[in-house]
Amino acid sequence: MRIYGALEGGGTKMVLAIVNEEGEIQEKTSIPTRTPAETMPEMIGFFRRFPIEALGIGCFGPLDLNPDSPTYGSITATPKLPWRNYPLTAAFRNALDIPVGLDTDVNGAALAEATLGAAKGLESCLYVTVGTGIGGGLIIHGKPVHGLTHPEIGHMAVTPLPEDPLPGGICPYHGNCLEGMASGPAIEKRWGISAKELPEDHPAWELESAYLAQLCASAMLSFSPEKIILGGGVMQQKFLLSGIRAKTIETLHGYIVHPAIEAGLKDYIVEPGLGTESGILGAYLLARDAERNTARSSSSVCDK
Ligand code: ADP
Ligand code: ZN
Repeated sequence: MRIYGALEGGGTKMVLAIVNEEGEIQEKTSIPTRTPAETMPEMIGFFRRFPIEALGIGCFGPLDLNPDSPTYGSITATPKLPWRNYPLTAAFRNALDIPVGLDTDVNGAALAEATLGAAKGLESCLYVTVGTGIGGGLIIHGKPVHGLTHPEIGHMAVTPLPEDPLPGGICPYHGNCLEGMASGPAIEKRWGISAKELPEDHPAWELESAYLAQLCASAMLSFSPEKIILGGGVMQQKFLLSGIRAKTIETLHGYIVHPAIEAGLKDYIVEPGLGTESGILGAYLLARDAERNTARSSSSVCDK
């Protein structure tokens, strides 16, 4: 059976896995993210132990994903300075001599949810992780959306609520964008206590669900995805989902008419179907894509 390498690249840790062609994870490990000089040899050493056909990477961004760019496959303006401008795809391709696929961590997770998880069988979905940051991956017509660069929906503008004690937010770029208002660190900054420790009846959660509802309503108005999947550390607070659904419906003010809304968005705004594995399985699917694309381009060369 063919096997594939999968890498979920995060600012804190790198998750590495070997996945077979049935999508079963056979090996999984994680290592702390340090500088490329320290982390890359360890990751390459891991993947070299297995006869993998291709490697897929879902990584923190921003990334250069423009295939025509000379720096395609590099990490770009990240605040994680040692990784800035690092040619991630090229480094793995040179070391392993196999096809390497790359997309953002959240586009990868969205792809996994659309292919194997909560949005299986649908042509579109939005996957959002609410954790240390907020990031969203969008699948339309079965493919992750790329455009001018890649979407950064976590930094969309939100309207601060009058009762918010931290109306200026904490995003170093925008202050009170969604990430600046609703990420785990924003909650902690606002209330002086970790999001994990806040009780269910704390006013923090009313604000949190209101801001995430602004995201859901905007996404429905902007892209009309067939499902919205909310994951990440903060969404471990499962009771948040029902508040987000209700506030999304309020925010839309009856403008979108659809049976999903009549059903209270119960099957529309949902938790990940793959639990915490959307990211690594997304990376695996990117490996499969890279293998297919390489086969296609080499057969078109032969045809000439
Ligand atoms: P990362 O975004 O770094 O990949 P997570 O998705 O776990 O990792 O997000 C970490 C953030 O989520 C932290 O700010 C933490 O306070 C918050 N968090 C983690 N677990 C919970 C929880 N059970 N309830 C609420 N917040 C949580
Ligand atoms: Zn921002």
